[in-house]
Amino acid sequence: MSFNNKVVIVTGSSTGIGAVTAVAFAKEGAKVVIVGRNEANLNDVAKQCSAVGSAPLVIKADVTKDEDAKRIINDTIQKFGQLDVLVNNAGIFEYGDILSGKILETYDRIIAINLRAVIHLTQLAAPHLVKTKGNIVNISSGASLLYGPPATLAYCVSKAALDHFTKGSALELAPSGVRVNAVSPGPVETDMLTRHSVQMNAPIDQVKVFSPLKRVSQSEEIADLVLFVAGNKAKGITGSVYLADNGFTLQ
Ligand code: NDP
Repeated sequence: MSFNNKVVIVTGSSTGIGAVTAVAFAKEGAKVVIVGRNEANLNDVAKQCSAVGSAPLVIKADVTKDEDAKRIINDTIQKFGQLDVLVNNAGIFEYGDILSGKILETYDRIIAINLRAVIHLTQLAAPHLVKTKGNIVNISSGASLLYGPPATLAYCVSKAALDHFTKGSALELAPSGVRVNAVSPGPVETDMLTRHSVQMNAPIDQVKVFSPLKRVSQSEEIADLVLFVAGNKAKGITGSVYLADNGFTLQ
């Protein structure tokens, strides 16, 4: 699973799944580009990458801003000369249901990051990925298979649309030798899950009880799957959405 000399962008890599994924790629020899808005967190992750591999390119950027998205791709090419893997991980989770009158504003914020930014970065990255026969891994969610709880509907819709985009972009880019897949976690112990469990008044131990395997995932498990899908062993895999949810969506 070596990524020696491969150039890998991981968006939303200042914390959580993205941070651990960036470090895992660095450990496998990749030249990593880490992206997020929080500079202090990015610098912390940069140190972790440097400790196991080469120093990453740090790009402070908001993926929803079109100029920032262009800068992410342009700075990567300027620094490393190529792009092999794009991991679209940056994402948010917010509440807002129909009857509270909050669903539209929630939807607009969520879609801007979880879907529109992915589409924009895919468009910007594609010409470079065609040159390297590279690939894209989108971080979706098991929520793409759910319809609620009602206040989470906008998030579910964003991830369902992301799965659809994953398959459609895989179909368009396959003749150019570019693969596109998604990894769909269930609950993973990150800041996002902590915020969610506080808001839902459901401690993480309670979330575990609801999962058939009676556990939540750690970011490392998701990173392992991302590296497999992005690597050469998965050369025949495109348009696939891999659940890693401890059986959560079976019930
Ligand atoms: P975190 O909240 O820990 O991390 C989210 C990351 O996204 C941060 O690095 C944040 O960085 C970045 N980010 C958010 N908005 C933007 C933006 N506008 N521009 C650039 N970066 C941004 O969440 P997780 O690690 O848990 O989530 C990562 C992905 O996994 C998300 O797509 C999420 O939907 C998905 N997921 C998570 C699950 C879970 O239980 N944790 C379950 C299923 C899916 P910064 O604040 O520095 O900008």
